[in-house]
Amino acid sequence: VIAVLAGGVGAARFLRGLVRAVDPSGVTVIVNTGDDETFHGLHVSPDIDTVTYTLAGVVNPETGWGIAADTFAAVDALERFGVPTWFRLGDRDLATHLFRTQRLRAGASLSQVTAEIAGAFGVPVRLVPMSDDPVPTLIEVTRDDGPAVLRMQEWFVRERCEPAVLGVTFSGADQARPAPGVLGALNDADAIVISPSNPIISIGPILAVPGVRDALVARRDRVVVVSPIIAGATVKGPADRLLGALGYEVSCVGVARAYHDVCGTIVIDEQDAARADEIAAAGMRVLVAPTLMTDARASEQLARVTLGSL
Ligand code: GDP
Ligand code: CA
Repeated sequence: VIAVLAGGVGAARFLRGLVRAVDPSGVTVIVNTGDDETFHGLHVSPDIDTVTYTLAGVVNPETGWGIAADTFAAVDALERFGVPTWFRLGDRDLATHLFRTQRLRAGASLSQVTAEIAGAFGVPVRLVPMSDDPVPTLIEVTRDDGPAVLRMQEWFVRERCEPAVLGVTFSGADQARPAPGVLGALNDADAIVISPSNPIISIGPILAVPGVRDALVARRDRVVVVSPIIAGATVKGPADRLLGALGYEVSCVGVARAYHDVCGTIVIDEQDAARADEIAAAGMRVLVAPTLMTDARASEQLARVTLGSL
């Protein structure tokens, strides 16, 4: 039995390999919902959808999110009404958000709907949101017009990560409860894998849900992380900028430090082999491997190496 903490694209690429390496029916994936947002009255869960579409084999291969060959007639038509359409929701993707929103309005929990959507897409693992309660990630920034607090998608998509980051908070995390199955999966798992996701805004929110961090600390020797930072840079996205803004070295060493309390083992890329001793000296086991997930085979190999490290 394996539990995986997941953000969006980095996690999805890893999971695509993991389901080839092990029996997917024994895998529980706990997904970040700090990026969840309401657009046009619809509940959008970007990381859950990215993982769902990837494991269903329908993800847009160019972007890593959204549905392959989707069209954008609905958002284009919405522009007539002057509503903001900077978050580009595809027409087929919209069906997911319509269904989710309707089910939530009828009283279903986010975890119930997530399971229903994953089931409809034939996803072979158990997908669980980190919490059924809203825990929006807020990014404190400075812009030309002064300090501001942006919701995650406003900073990430609308403002293209341009405003300098002062801090990150997980709003409402103190009161949030882990979704049903989250703590059970962490306690029962033979291995807990932290995906090569953004440590600050993809994994950070999951760890902020009460009980999750403690569950990992208690099982630190069964927890392994794959570094999302290779040779001092992200493969994609703002993880490097966020790590730097929050005072971490932008490298696999900084990633190791960020996870030191909750994670006993780190998989770092071959290009970072020279940093292995430094991480080991700080009290983490280190495995050096190719970690660039160029295709499903590379992801599968990385999943095997990662599980083999425990
Ligand atoms: P998001 O929510 O869509 O931004 O996705 P995640 O947080 O799950 O993933 C973003 C992280 O994935 C970035 O920090 C990337 O560096 C990392 N990533 C993407 N592709 C790869 C890869 O092939 N190898 C590794 N090691 N990291 C990757
Ligand atoms: Ca995300």
